Amino acid sequence: QAKSDSKHKCVRFRERMRRLRDETQTIKKDLERAIREQQFVLHYQPIACTRTDRVVAAEALIRWQHPEKGLIRPDEFVAIAEETGLINEIGTWVSRKVGEMQAELAALDLDIPLSMNVSPRQMSDPQFVSWMQSLAELTGCCPGRISLEITESVLLGDIPNAFEVLSVLKQAGYRIVIDDFGTGYSNLAYLHNYPIDGIKIDRMFMEDIATGGAIVKLILSLASALGAEVVAEGVETLDQRIWLSENGCNRFQGFLYSKPVPEDRFLSMLTTQLRIAAM
Ligand code: C2E
Ligand code: MG
Ligand code: MG
Repeated sequence: QAKSDSKHKCVRFRERMRRLRDETQTIKKDLERAIREQQFVLHYQPIACTRTDRVVAAEALIRWQHPEKGLIRPDEFVAIAEETGLINEIGTWVSRKVGEMQAELAALDLDIPLSMNVSPRQMSDPQFVSWMQSLAELTGCCPGRISLEITESVLLGDIPNAFEVLSVLKQAGYRIVIDDFGTGYSNLAYLHNYPIDGIKIDRMFMEDIATGGAIVKLILSLASALGAEVVAEGVETLDQRIWLSENGCNRFQGFLYSKPVPEDRFLSMLTTQLRIAAM
Protein backbone atom coordinates (compact mmCIF):
# COMPACT_ATOMS: atom_id res chain seq x y z
CA GLN A 1 0.00 0.00 0.00
CA ALA A 2 2.72 2.45 1.04
CA LYS A 3 4.68 1.60 -2.06
CA SER A 4 1.81 2.22 -4.47
CA ASP A 5 0.99 5.43 -2.56
CA SER A 6 4.44 6.82 -3.11
CA LYS A 7 4.38 5.72 -6.73
CA HIS A 8 1.12 7.63 -7.12
CA LYS A 9 2.63 10.70 -5.52
CA CYS A 10 5.57 10.43 -7.84
CA VAL A 11 3.36 10.37 -10.92
CA ARG A 12 1.31 13.30 -9.65
CA PHE A 13 4.49 15.23 -8.93
CA ARG A 14 5.84 14.57 -12.41
CA GLU A 15 2.54 15.68 -13.92
CA ARG A 16 2.56 18.86 -11.91
CA MET A 17 6.11 19.59 -13.00
CA ARG A 18 5.19 19.03 -16.61
CA ARG A 19 2.18 21.36 -16.35
CA LEU A 20 4.36 24.00 -14.75
CA ARG A 21 6.93 23.64 -17.52
CA ASP A 22 4.20 23.94 -20.17
CA GLU A 23 2.79 27.05 -18.53
CA THR A 24 6.23 28.61 -18.39
CA GLN A 25 6.72 27.80 -22.08
CA THR A 26 3.38 29.41 -22.95
CA ILE A 27 4.21 32.57 -21.03
CA LYS A 28 7.65 32.61 -22.62
CA LYS A 29 6.16 32.51 -26.13
CA ASP A 30 3.64 35.18 -25.15
CA LEU A 31 6.44 37.32 -23.77
CA GLU A 32 8.48 37.01 -26.94
CA ARG A 33 5.49 38.23 -28.88
CA ALA A 34 4.92 40.99 -26.34
CA ILE A 35 8.46 42.22 -26.93
CA ARG A 36 8.01 42.14 -30.72
CA GLU A 37 4.63 43.88 -30.58
CA GLN A 38 5.57 46.32 -27.82
CA GLN A 39 2.80 45.32 -25.45
CA PHE A 40 4.46 46.79 -22.37
CA VAL A 41 3.66 50.07 -20.67
CA LEU A 42 5.25 51.88 -17.77
CA HIS A 43 3.23 53.25 -14.89
CA TYR A 44 4.72 55.77 -12.51
CA GLN A 45 4.25 55.81 -8.76
CA PRO A 46 5.04 59.15 -7.10
CA ILE A 47 7.48 59.34 -4.21
CA ALA A 48 6.42 62.23 -1.97
CA CYS A 49 7.87 64.30 0.86
CA THR A 50 6.52 63.36 4.32
CA ARG A 51 6.53 67.01 5.42
CA THR A 52 5.35 68.96 2.37
CA ASP A 53 3.27 66.22 0.72
CA ARG A 54 4.74 67.16 -2.66
CA VAL A 55 5.98 64.75 -5.33
CA VAL A 56 9.78 64.64 -5.19
CA ALA A 57 10.50 61.61 -7.39
CA ALA A 58 8.78 58.63 -9.04
CA GLU A 59 9.35 54.95 -9.72
CA ALA A 60 8.68 53.40 -13.12
CA LEU A 61 6.80 50.09 -12.84
CA ILE A 62 6.21 47.84 -15.81
CA ARG A 63 2.82 46.44 -16.86
CA TRP A 64 1.98 44.08 -19.66
CA GLN A 65 -0.96 45.08 -21.82
CA HIS A 66 -1.94 41.57 -22.88
CA PRO A 67 -4.26 41.50 -25.92
CA GLU A 68 -6.55 38.88 -24.32
CA LYS A 69 -5.83 38.94 -20.61
CA GLY A 70 -5.71 42.70 -20.06
CA LEU A 71 -3.25 44.49 -17.85
CA ILE A 72 -0.83 42.05 -16.17
CA ARG A 73 1.24 43.03 -13.14
CA PRO A 74 4.98 42.31 -13.00
CA ASP A 75 4.66 39.70 -10.25
CA GLU A 76 3.11 37.43 -12.87
CA PHE A 77 5.79 37.66 -15.53
CA VAL A 78 9.05 39.26 -14.33
CA ALA A 79 10.27 36.05 -12.68
CA ILE A 80 9.73 34.07 -15.91
CA ALA A 81 11.32 36.85 -17.98
CA GLU A 82 14.26 36.63 -15.63
CA GLU A 83 14.54 32.81 -15.87
CA THR A 84 14.33 32.80 -19.65
CA GLY A 85 16.68 35.74 -20.11
CA LEU A 86 13.98 37.83 -21.81
CA ILE A 87 14.36 40.35 -18.99
CA ASN A 88 17.43 41.69 -20.78
CA GLU A 89 15.39 42.86 -23.75
CA ILE A 90 12.53 44.02 -21.57
CA GLY A 91 14.96 45.89 -19.34
CA THR A 92 16.49 47.63 -22.35
CA TRP A 93 13.04 48.83 -23.34
CA VAL A 94 12.28 49.99 -19.77
CA SER A 95 15.49 51.98 -19.49
CA ARG A 96 14.98 53.66 -22.84
CA LYS A 97 11.46 54.70 -21.87
CA VAL A 98 12.68 56.00 -18.51
CA GLY A 99 15.52 57.90 -20.20
CA GLU A 100 13.08 59.49 -22.66
CA MET A 101 10.66 60.34 -19.85
CA GLN A 102 13.38 61.96 -17.75
CA ALA A 103 14.47 64.07 -20.72
CA GLU A 104 10.84 65.03 -21.40
CA LEU A 105 10.27 66.05 -17.77
CA ALA A 106 13.41 68.17 -17.74
CA ALA A 107 12.31 69.86 -20.97
CA LEU A 108 8.96 70.67 -19.34
CA ASP A 109 10.71 72.15 -16.29
CA LEU A 110 9.28 69.29 -14.20
CA ASP A 111 12.67 68.10 -13.18
CA ILE A 112 11.62 65.11 -11.10
CA PRO A 113 14.17 62.29 -10.68
CA LEU A 114 12.99 58.84 -11.74
CA SER A 115 13.89 55.36 -10.65
CA MET A 116 13.71 52.01 -12.42
CA ASN A 117 14.09 48.41 -11.32
CA VAL A 118 17.08 46.42 -12.52
CA SER A 119 16.98 42.65 -12.11
CA PRO A 120 20.02 40.55 -11.12
CA ARG A 121 20.13 38.94 -14.54
CA GLN A 122 20.58 42.34 -16.18
CA MET A 123 23.38 43.19 -13.80
CA SER A 124 25.36 40.23 -15.04
CA ASP A 125 24.80 41.07 -18.70
CA PRO A 126 27.89 42.91 -20.05
CA GLN A 127 25.78 44.55 -22.75
CA PHE A 128 23.58 46.12 -20.11
CA VAL A 129 26.40 48.28 -18.78
CA SER A 130 27.44 49.62 -22.18
CA TRP A 131 23.79 50.18 -23.06
CA MET A 132 23.31 52.24 -19.90
CA GLN A 133 26.46 54.20 -20.73
CA SER A 134 25.00 55.17 -24.10
CA LEU A 135 21.51 56.02 -22.77
CA ALA A 136 22.25 59.71 -22.16
CA GLU A 137 23.38 60.23 -25.72
CA LEU A 138 20.50 58.20 -27.09
CA THR A 139 17.66 59.81 -25.13
CA GLY A 140 19.01 63.11 -23.86
CA CYS A 141 18.47 62.05 -20.27
CA CYS A 142 20.58 63.06 -17.31
CA PRO A 143 21.82 59.86 -15.56
CA GLY A 144 22.23 61.82 -12.32
CA ARG A 145 18.44 62.09 -12.22
CA ILE A 146 17.92 58.35 -12.63
CA SER A 147 18.17 55.81 -9.81
CA LEU A 148 18.74 52.13 -10.48
CA GLU A 149 16.91 49.98 -7.94
CA ILE A 150 18.68 46.71 -7.24
CA THR A 151 17.95 44.02 -4.68
CA GLU A 152 20.22 42.97 -1.85
CA SER A 153 20.86 39.63 -3.53
CA VAL A 154 22.92 41.45 -6.17
CA LEU A 155 25.25 42.70 -3.45
CA LEU A 156 25.41 39.43 -1.58
CA GLY A 157 27.41 37.48 -4.10
CA ASP A 158 24.79 36.36 -6.61
CA ILE A 159 26.46 38.49 -9.26
CA PRO A 160 30.18 37.73 -9.47
CA ASN A 161 31.42 41.16 -10.58
CA ALA A 162 28.69 43.28 -8.99
CA PHE A 163 31.22 45.73 -7.61
CA GLU A 164 32.73 46.49 -11.02
CA VAL A 165 29.32 46.79 -12.68
CA LEU A 166 28.04 49.18 -10.00
CA SER A 167 31.20 51.26 -10.16
CA VAL A 168 30.88 51.71 -13.92
CA LEU A 169 27.19 52.62 -13.59
CA LYS A 170 28.04 55.14 -10.88
CA GLN A 171 30.76 56.58 -13.06
CA ALA A 172 28.19 57.01 -15.80
CA GLY A 173 26.28 59.14 -13.28
CA TYR A 174 23.45 56.85 -12.16
CA ARG A 175 22.38 56.64 -8.54
CA ILE A 176 22.32 53.18 -6.95
CA VAL A 177 19.46 52.35 -4.60
CA ILE A 178 18.76 49.14 -2.67
CA ASP A 179 15.15 48.02 -3.13
CA ASP A 180 13.12 46.02 -0.58
CA PHE A 181 15.77 46.68 2.04
CA GLY A 182 15.67 44.35 5.01
CA THR A 183 14.14 41.35 3.24
CA GLY A 184 17.45 39.76 2.22
CA TYR A 185 19.87 38.17 4.62
CA SER A 186 20.77 40.32 7.57
CA ASN A 187 24.38 40.55 6.47
CA LEU A 188 25.08 44.25 6.71
CA ALA A 189 28.82 44.00 6.10
CA TYR A 190 28.37 44.36 2.37
CA LEU A 191 27.02 47.90 2.72
CA HIS A 192 30.49 49.29 3.34
CA ASN A 193 31.85 47.88 0.13
CA TYR A 194 29.36 49.36 -2.30
CA PRO A 195 28.66 52.87 -3.57
CA ILE A 196 25.08 53.06 -2.27
CA ASP A 197 23.10 56.32 -2.69
CA GLY A 198 19.80 55.22 -1.28
CA ILE A 199 17.76 52.60 0.54
CA LYS A 200 14.09 51.73 0.12
CA ILE A 201 12.64 50.25 3.29
CA ASP A 202 10.51 47.26 2.36
CA ARG A 203 6.80 47.70 2.89
CA MET A 204 6.63 44.82 5.38
CA PHE A 205 8.29 47.12 7.94
CA MET A 206 5.42 49.59 7.82
CA GLU A 207 3.52 47.21 10.11
CA ASP A 208 6.37 47.59 12.58
CA ILE A 209 5.46 51.27 13.02
CA ALA A 210 2.24 50.46 14.89
CA THR A 211 4.30 48.69 17.55
CA GLY A 212 6.95 51.37 17.98
CA GLY A 213 8.93 51.10 14.76
CA ALA A 214 12.16 49.84 16.34
CA ILE A 215 13.39 48.25 13.11
CA VAL A 216 12.52 51.24 10.96
CA LYS A 217 14.42 53.48 13.41
CA LEU A 218 17.41 51.18 13.12
CA ILE A 219 17.33 51.28 9.31
CA LEU A 220 16.99 55.08 9.38
CA SER A 221 20.05 55.52 11.56
CA LEU A 222 22.01 53.01 9.50
CA ALA A 223 21.14 54.91 6.33
CA SER A 224 22.08 58.20 7.88
CA ALA A 225 25.47 56.80 8.97
CA LEU A 226 26.04 55.64 5.39
CA GLY A 227 24.89 58.95 3.95
CA ALA A 228 22.18 57.17 2.01
CA GLU A 229 18.80 58.68 1.23
CA VAL A 230 15.77 56.71 2.47
CA VAL A 231 12.37 56.05 0.93
CA ALA A 232 9.70 54.21 2.93
CA GLU A 233 7.74 51.87 0.65
CA GLY A 234 4.14 50.71 0.98
CA VAL A 235 2.88 53.58 3.13
CA GLU A 236 -0.87 53.12 3.40
CA THR A 237 -1.97 55.10 6.46
CA LEU A 238 -1.72 58.69 7.66
CA ASP A 239 -0.35 57.44 11.00
CA GLN A 240 2.56 55.83 9.19
CA ARG A 241 3.29 59.01 7.25
CA ILE A 242 3.23 61.16 10.40
CA TRP A 243 5.46 58.70 12.25
CA LEU A 244 7.96 58.73 9.35
CA SER A 245 8.01 62.50 9.24
CA GLU A 246 8.58 62.72 13.01
CA ASN A 247 11.36 60.17 12.81
CA GLY A 248 13.31 61.89 10.07
CA CYS A 249 12.25 59.85 7.06
CA ASN A 250 11.56 62.45 4.39
CA ARG A 251 10.41 60.34 1.50
CA PHE A 252 7.55 57.93 1.17
CA GLN A 253 5.82 55.92 -1.53
CA GLY A 254 2.55 54.09 -1.20
CA PHE A 255 -1.17 53.88 -1.82
CA LEU A 256 -1.77 56.63 0.77
CA TYR A 257 -0.31 59.12 -1.68
CA SER A 258 -1.00 57.45 -4.99
CA LYS A 259 -1.06 54.12 -6.76
CA PRO A 260 1.18 53.70 -9.80
CA VAL A 261 -0.55 55.66 -12.60
CA PRO A 262 -0.24 55.79 -16.41
CA GLU A 263 2.24 58.23 -17.88
CA ASP A 264 -0.31 60.91 -18.85
CA ARG A 265 -1.91 60.87 -15.38
CA PHE A 266 1.52 61.22 -13.83
CA LEU A 267 2.36 64.17 -16.09
CA SER A 268 -0.87 65.95 -15.19
CA MET A 269 -0.18 65.38 -11.46
CA LEU A 270 3.14 67.13 -11.91
CA THR A 271 1.82 70.04 -13.97
CA THR A 272 -0.95 70.62 -11.41
CA GLN A 273 1.63 70.67 -8.65
CA LEU A 274 3.76 73.15 -10.60
CA ARG A 275 0.76 75.42 -11.20
CA ILE A 276 -0.20 75.41 -7.51
CA ALA A 277 3.38 76.23 -6.53
CA ALA A 278 3.38 79.18 -8.92
CA MET A 279 0.17 80.67 -7.42
P1 C2E B 1 9.06 47.07 -6.20
O1 C2E B 1 10.14 47.60 -7.05
O2 C2E B 1 9.36 46.90 -4.76
O3 C2E B 1 7.82 48.04 -6.44
C1 C2E B 1 6.88 48.37 -5.46
C2 C2E B 1 5.63 47.53 -5.59
O4 C2E B 1 4.78 47.79 -4.48
C3 C2E B 1 4.79 47.87 -6.82
O5 C2E B 1 4.17 46.68 -7.26
C4 C2E B 1 3.76 48.83 -6.25
O6 C2E B 1 2.56 48.89 -7.01
C5 C2E B 1 3.51 48.22 -4.91
N1 C2E B 1 3.02 49.20 -3.95
C6 C2E B 1 3.26 50.52 -3.92
N2 C2E B 1 2.67 51.12 -2.87
C7 C2E B 1 2.01 50.15 -2.19
C8 C2E B 1 1.21 50.14 -1.00
O7 C2E B 1 0.97 51.15 -0.35
N3 C2E B 1 0.71 48.92 -0.61
C9 C2E B 1 0.95 47.78 -1.31
N4 C2E B 1 0.41 46.65 -0.86
N5 C2E B 1 1.72 47.75 -2.43
C10 C2E B 1 2.25 48.92 -2.86
P2 C2E B 1 4.18 46.22 -8.78
O8 C2E B 1 4.08 47.40 -9.69
O9 C2E B 1 3.19 45.12 -8.95
O10 C2E B 1 5.65 45.63 -8.98
C11 C2E B 1 6.08 44.49 -8.29
C12 C2E B 1 7.55 44.25 -8.47
O11 C2E B 1 7.88 43.91 -9.82
C13 C2E B 1 8.40 45.47 -8.17
O12 C2E B 1 8.57 45.64 -6.77
C14 C2E B 1 9.69 45.10 -8.89
O13 C2E B 1 10.47 44.24 -8.11
C15 C2E B 1 9.18 44.33 -10.10
N6 C2E B 1 9.19 45.24 -11.26
C16 C2E B 1 8.32 46.21 -11.61
N7 C2E B 1 8.68 46.84 -12.75
C17 C2E B 1 9.86 46.26 -13.13
C18 C2E B 1 10.75 46.47 -14.24
O14 C2E B 1 10.58 47.37 -15.08
N8 C2E B 1 11.86 45.65 -14.29
C19 C2E B 1 12.10 44.69 -13.36
N9 C2E B 1 13.21 43.93 -13.49
N10 C2E B 1 11.28 44.48 -12.31
C20 C2E B 1 10.18 45.24 -12.19
MG1 MG C 1 11.42 49.05 -6.97
MG1 MG D 1 10.41 47.56 -3.33
